[in-house]
Amino acid sequence: MSKPATLFNRLALIGVGLIGSSIARAARAQGVVGSIVATARSPETRRRVAELGLADQVVETSAVAVEGADLVIVCIPVGACGAVAQEIGPRLAPGALVSDVGSVKGTVVRDMGPHLPKNGHFVPAHPVAGTEFSGPDAGFAELFVNRWCILTPPKNTDQAAVDRLAEFWRLLGANVETMAPDHHDMVLAITSHLPHLIAYTIVGTADELETVTRSEVLKFSAGGFRDFTRIAASDPTMWRDVFLTNKDAVLEMLGRFNEDVAALTMAIRRGDGEALFAHFARTRAIRKGILDIGQDSAAPDFGRPHPDLPHEPLPKPYAADGD
Ligand code: NAP
Repeated sequence: MSKPATLFNRLALIGVGLIGSSIARAARAQGVVGSIVATARSPETRRRVAELGLADQVVETSAVAVEGADLVIVCIPVGACGAVAQEIGPRLAPGALVSDVGSVKGTVVRDMGPHLPKNGHFVPAHPVAGTEFSGPDAGFAELFVNRWCILTPPKNTDQAAVDRLAEFWRLLGANVETMAPDHHDMVLAITSHLPHLIAYTIVGTADELETVTRSEVLKFSAGGFRDFTRIAASDPTMWRDVFLTNKDAVLEMLGRFNEDVAALTMAIRRGDGEALFAHFARTRAIRKGILDIGQDSAAPDFGRPHPDLPHEPLPKPYAADGD
């Protein structure tokens, strides 16, 4: 199969952690951009990005990185996106497409939008793919294969720009869907943010137990706890920002969750086996639905073939997870 034509001449990546470095690797592997310029906040990360050869050029500031770029993707914690937009706004090339990868979209639209020039395009995006690892070494080219990337263009965004970014993500292996920013935040609150909060909570609860030792918790963790510990190892800065910026949607889901926990608590207290069985049977069917649409399997995602990708995915020692 032939390689796709270059879609953008110059990609500027602002932030090169798990997501930024995976974009760099995938965009290179698929030949979808002419060149990549990257920047990161700390000199250590910039040095590592250069050592790994993830970009054609590594520069010190975001303002310098965006000069002459026709695609700019901001890959940093959600809470820092507004300040970066303010810095790059005046330095963007006319017609440049600016995007991001943040896990919360309403805040990104509100914080970045006002700083970006009218002669360009702003198409926020969220690749629903990730692992619990961080930094430029953690990324891999196959991270987005068969995963969803959700685009949340503000009203009146040029459709051609949305289509172009959608094509970029498809070439990286993702399936693309478009939705309103606030709807995205409600959907992700239940599918990603609440599960992370539960994992952070349960691992903390186990850590504070007095009657069960920490070594027992580790030793017998295969009984379900182990999966929570993996999720609870996710980056604290990223997840702090997710809960601060998606407060309303998370509180709404948390309220519903607490009501359901209360109902199950009551069923256990009353010995109501019928209620427990009915609940567990319903949730088992949901799991089957996820398997049926290919959003999980015993095999890690990066091992799955993608019909349109010319390159063989490399095996990786990570469990991919939709964040
Ligand atoms: P990461 O591996 O921790 O990398 C974060 C990058 O952002 C690093 O280059 C870091 O620079 C930079 N950074 C951190 N704080 C900053 C600040 N205040 N100002 C400027 N740059 C800053 O994070 P990641 O997992 O790639 O996540 C990046 C974004 O992707 C987040 O918005 C997250 O919500 C979203 N996302 C994450 C996942 C996931 O599973 N991890 C999935 C989908 C979307 P230094 O290294 O120099 O500190």
